[in-house]
Amino acid sequence: MADLPLRPELAGQEPYGAPQLDVPHRLNVNENPYPPSPGLLAAIGRAAADPGLNRYPDREATALRTDLAAYLGHGLGPENVWAANGSNEVMTHLLQAFGGPGRTVLTFAPSYSMYPEYARNTYTRYLTAPRRPDFTVDADLVRAAVAEHHPDVLLLTSPNNPTGTSVSLDVVRLACEVAPGMVVVDEAYQEFARSGTPSALSLLAEHPRLVVTRTMSKAFAFAGGRLGYLAAAPAVVDACRIVRLPYHLSAVTQAVARVALAHAPELLSQVDALRRERDLLVDWLRDRGLAVADTDANFVLFGRFADRSAVWRGLLERGVLIRETGPDGWLRVSAGTPTEMAAFRTALVQVAEEMA
Ligand code: PMP
Repeated sequence: MADLPLRPELAGQEPYGAPQLDVPHRLNVNENPYPPSPGLLAAIGRAAADPGLNRYPDREATALRTDLAAYLGHGLGPENVWAANGSNEVMTHLLQAFGGPGRTVLTFAPSYSMYPEYARNTYTRYLTAPRRPDFTVDADLVRAAVAEHHPDVLLLTSPNNPTGTSVSLDVVRLACEVAPGMVVVDEAYQEFARSGTPSALSLLAEHPRLVVTRTMSKAFAFAGGRLGYLAAAPAVVDACRIVRLPYHLSAVTQAVARVALAHAPELLSQVDALRRERDLLVDWLRDRGLAVADTDANFVLFGRFADRSAVWRGLLERGVLIRETGPDGWLRVSAGTPTEMAAFRTALVQVAEEMA
């Protein structure tokens, strides 16, 4: 690439992505480990067999957005919902519409490692303010960061990746009151939240500049289907419609996602089991004297290790792939099946003994 007239800010950059390795236990990208049932696969096959491939798909994806609105509840309709190829693309649409040259997006670090890339790709300036030492974001932090940076887009992640920390509704409410621009709450992991951790969807009716993003990649066990979406006031959806590529959601994606939504109870049926594995893992790690962030997601951030890369490699050598991400010294592991969690625990004990 060095010989190409590349945009200067892309020089030396690597494509984003966690390693995709063929190992027995893949606990690195927060997927739902339970595959669809044969019955659901058959229904998906039927829907994908004839979605009308000789014609362009419905540009507005109205039927799918209607189904997504019904899934979300809160009195939302298709006019409140926008959908795209993963919440990655939804977030890119938001920054194309509300960020851009001369504008800023502000998040609280550490957070999702793709955010700076969405910002770069949309020419939006990326700013961060630090979280508290326990990775929480409180009202004082929001107030101070907004006063300092006046962001065009304030991005709150709840539960946050890679820490698992939730943001309370009071803090989201305050953000909507003090932020001068859009407030986006990324709820990619909301279905895994512990009981009593409410969704920002309940605030949409009062706040026309609030956007809640969701995905079918995590709890919904549909990462391979690539379907993310948002809920907001109809005007926000209209703004996304302006910047999207025409026919951005293929006929196959729309048809298959609708079948998945029709089987929501089945696809979400393992969420409780994954929450249970997560909580057991948190207790186990803490019993071993490790630091663990409070988590409402389907993953656990734990540490601190003098050499986290060595721990990551030691686990990989034992067939367990986790993620080297987050602040220095910490590692992130996704909640998996009981078998996967047992493999992780066994491997971590062995690695700790080897390094002692
Ligand atoms: N937001 C957060 C916080 C995430 O962790 C992820 C996936 N790792 C996404 C958004 C994007 O997910 P997808 O594009 O698969 O919907």
